[in-house]
Amino acid sequence: LINFFGLTLTQIQHHLKSLDFPQFAPEQIARWIYQKNIFDFSKMTNLSLLQRQKLDDSFFINAPKPLSFVQSEDGTKKYLFPTGNGKFIETAFIPEKNRSTLCLSSQVGCKMGCLFCMTAKQGFQGQLSAAQIIGQFQGIEEKERITNLVYMGMGEPLDNIDEVLSSLEVFTSPWGYALSPKKITLSTIGILPGIQKFLSQSSCRLALSLHSPFEEERKTLMPIQTVYPFSEILDFLRSYQKEKTLDRLSIEYIVFKDLNHSPAHAKAMARILQGLKVRVNLIPYHPVPGTDLEGAREDQMLSFQVKLKEKGLMTTVRKSRGLDIDAACGLLSTKALLKPEKDLDY
Ligand code: SF4
Repeated sequence: LINFFGLTLTQIQHHLKSLDFPQFAPEQIARWIYQKNIFDFSKMTNLSLLQRQKLDDSFFINAPKPLSFVQSEDGTKKYLFPTGNGKFIETAFIPEKNRSTLCLSSQVGCKMGCLFCMTAKQGFQGQLSAAQIIGQFQGIEEKERITNLVYMGMGEPLDNIDEVLSSLEVFTSPWGYALSPKKITLSTIGILPGIQKFLSQSSCRLALSLHSPFEEERKTLMPIQTVYPFSEILDFLRSYQKEKTLDRLSIEYIVFKDLNHSPAHAKAMARILQGLKVRVNLIPYHPVPGTDLEGAREDQMLSFQVKLKEKGLMTTVRKSRGLDIDAACGLLSTKALLKPEKDLDY
C-alpha cells in the first residue's frame, strides 16, 4: 500500500493513472488531505463509493505525529518526531507578537560538518521524505497559528533537494496548504547547483549562511567553502538578480565573539555583497560542546550592525529564542535519543 500523505498532485495523478479515475479526482483528493485534513478515503464524499473503495484497496493516508515536546519560558516549543529505525528529528515552533514561525528539519543529522553546529556533531543519519518534512507542520497543535516556515532546522535542505522541493510544492500550491511563498524561507550553507535548481523551481525565499566574508576564515567554519566558494555563489546571484527580479534573498551571519565582527569584516562584507539586493541577518550564537567558539555580546552585535549599515547594508539583529530548551539556532540534535524502534511508513 502507498501512503498518499506528502505526495504532490503529479504524484497522486501518477498513482491513479491506471485506475480509471476522472481527471479532476487527484486534485479533489489532495484538497481533502491538505485543506480539510481528511485522512479517510471513505469520507471523501465528492468521490463515488466505487472510487473510494478502489482508493482504500491500494492506498492509505498517514501523517507523522510528534512523540513529545518541551516548552521554553519564552513560549518556544521544540517537538520531537520519530522518523523510523530509532531515529528522530526536532522541529521548533516560535511564537512572536505578530507572527509564528515553524523551523523545519530536512535531514536526520547532517553531513556538512559546520564547526559551530550541534547537528553536525550528530553526523548524517538519513534523508527525510517530503511527508516527513510536511508532517512537522501537519502534526503540531499550533498548525493553524503558523504564519511563516523556515527550513533552518536539522540538515542542509539543498542536500535533500527533491524531497524539499516536493514539500514546498505541497505547502504553496492551491490544491495543497496554499501558503504564500513569501512566508517560506529555505536556508542553505551554499550548494550552488541546489541554489540554481531551487531558484528555478520555487518562488520561496532564500537565505545564504555566510558567517565570514574571508575565504580562509569561512573554510574553518564551514567546509563547504572548499567545494562551493561564496564568491562563485554571490557572482551567480548577482547575475541572476540582473536577469530576473530576485527580491527574496537574505544573508545569515552568526556573530562569534572576537572572530567576525571587526571593522575589517564590515568592510569586506560591503565589498563582497556589492551590487546585490540583500538583507543581512545577524544571529546570536550559543556555544556547543567540542568547539571554542563563543557568541558575541549583544552590544558587539549592535555595533557590528551599525558598521554594516554605515556601509549601506540593510541589517537586522535576530533575537535568540528557546535557549533554555536547546531550540535556538544551531542547537538542534537528536543524537542522545537514538534507540531501537520500529520502522515507519512515511
Ligand atoms: S549548520 Fe546546517 S549545514 Fe552546517 S552542519 Fe549544521 S545543519 Fe548542517
